[in-house]
Amino acid sequence: MKKDIDKYIIAIDGYSSTGKSTYAKMLAKEFGWKHIDTGAMYRAVTLYGIENYYKGNSIDVSELIKHLNLIQINFKFNPETKENETYLNQKNVESEIRDMQVSEQVSSVAKVAEIRTFLVDQQRKIGNVGGIVMDGRDIGTVVFPNADLKFFITASVEVRAARRFLEFQNKKSSITLEEVTENLKQRDFIDENRDIAPLKKAFDAYLIDNSELSKQETYSKIVDIIHEKLNI
Ligand code: C5P
Repeated sequence: MKKDIDKYIIAIDGYSSTGKSTYAKMLAKEFGWKHIDTGAMYRAVTLYGIENYYKGNSIDVSELIKHLNLIQINFKFNPETKENETYLNQKNVESEIRDMQVSEQVSSVAKVAEIRTFLVDQQRKIGNVGGIVMDGRDIGTVVFPNADLKFFITASVEVRAARRFLEFQNKKSSITLEEVTENLKQRDFIDENRDIAPLKKAFDAYLIDNSELSKQETYSKIVDIIHEKLNI
C-alpha cells in the first residue's frame, strides 16, 4: 500500500561540500517535508566545546561529554530565507557553526561514541514520525537504516574544495583554497575511518557523483528517482 507523502523518511548522505544540505532543503520545499541537517548538530556541539572546554589547541572532549546535558539544539524556520536555522541554547548559530575553526574540530568531536549517541537519539525522535529529509554521513546506515529512499552524494575533492572556497570568498573570508582542500581531506579521512558509524554508502543507497553535474542536474536526478521509486 502506498504511504502518505508526510510519512516518508529520505536519507541523504555523502561527502562534505557535495551539496547534500542544499538538495535536502530543495526537496523539503518541493514535497513539504521537514529538513534536518545533522552536520549542523555535530557543528553546534563542537561550537559549544570550543566556547567552553577549549584547552591548548583542541577541545577537552572528556569535559564536553560530561556536560552534554547542558546542550540544547533546535532548528527554527526563518520566514525570510524560508529555511531552518540552527540554535544552540536559544542562540542563532547558523553562521558561526560554518566557521573554519568549527570545521577543523568537528570530525574529532563526531567520532566520539557518547556524542553520537546523544545526537542520534535526537535525530530519531525528530525523524521517526516521517515527512522528513535528513542529511548527514550515517543517516542511511545507522540513524534510519529503514529509510524509504537513500542517496549517497560524492564528487572529486578538487570540485568540492572549489565549491567550498567560493562560499568562503562570498563571505569575504581570507581562507585559501589550500586550507579548504586540506580541511576537506582531513575530515574525509577521519569520517571514513572512525570506528562508529563511519562515512560509507548504504548498500541500498542511490549513488550520485556530481563532479560534472550542475546543481540543477543533480537535483533533477534525485527528483526523478523519488518520482519513480515512491510513485509520487
Ligand atoms: O555536513 P557537514 O559537513 O556540515 O558535517 C560536519 C561534520 O559533522 C562531518 O565532517 C562529520 O565529521 C560530522 N557528521 C557526522 N555524522 C553526520 C553528520 C555530520 O559525523 N550524520
